Amino acid sequence: MSDNIDPEEIQKFEAIARRWWDPNSEFKPLHAINPLRTGYIADRCSLEGKHVLDIGCGGGLLTEALAKAGAHVTGIDMGEVPLQVAKLHRHESGLEIDYHQSTAEQFAKTHTHAFDIVTCLEMLEHVPDPGSVVRACGQLLKPKGDLFLSTLNRNPKAYAFAIVGAEYLLGLLPRGTHDYQKFIRPSELAHSLRAQDFTLHDIRGMTYNPVTQTYRLSPDTDVNYLMHARYEPQPNAT
Ligand code: SAH
Repeated sequence: MSDNIDPEEIQKFEAIARRWWDPNSEFKPLHAINPLRTGYIADRCSLEGKHVLDIGCGGGLLTEALAKAGAHVTGIDMGEVPLQVAKLHRHESGLEIDYHQSTAEQFAKTHTHAFDIVTCLEMLEHVPDPGSVVRACGQLLKPKGDLFLSTLNRNPKAYAFAIVGAEYLLGLLPRGTHDYQKFIRPSELAHSLRAQDFTLHDIRGMTYNPVTQTYRLSPDTDVNYLMHARYEPQPNAT
């Protein structure tokens, strides 16, 4: 079976990865949402001393924030340049983070039920089979472990905001960053989660206000959303 990787998607990030930590670059939206999503995660589970895996970590924005909050963090990504950037920045920040070039599926084979918390933010819309990543998350998490996912919803409003607005009108993201067909409805993600013994605990929107140019957490999940689920495998009825 071939790996769950789209080489064109990896290439898109390789090409711009050197600017990852520049808050005015293509990564401006990720910088803007980083405190919000870190706060969301920290509010919903304790990070201190926990073993956390950040899947599709890119240049390490969330990875570093989680390490700063006291977690032992491992970051995995399939992009070489994003990982080089992440490794360099880790030294500048004086943080201990393990970085590996791997998919979630590959990593799950050698790190079965090894993590307290798994995060996979803004990545699922770039892989051929998001359900396969969710399955790997279940293999990576300890029972009762917490999973945090974020992605883009698929509906006309998400198309208008995330592609027409962000890529064409406001120029927040390079054109071609996102492919509408790969956006994921919350119901679809919830279905994949349930199939892998996850209990869905929360779904929260991240909305952008073009006037104030700020993001906030909100009940509006129409465009960008976060999900918190817990891995609760049923004990075998033997
Ligand atoms: N999660 C980070 C970066 C999001 S950008 C954040 O939110 O700040 C998406 C990242 O996913 C890129 O770095 C890209 O290289 C990575 N990626 C895409 N497909 C992947 C795959 N199949 N396995 C691992 N990483 C992947």
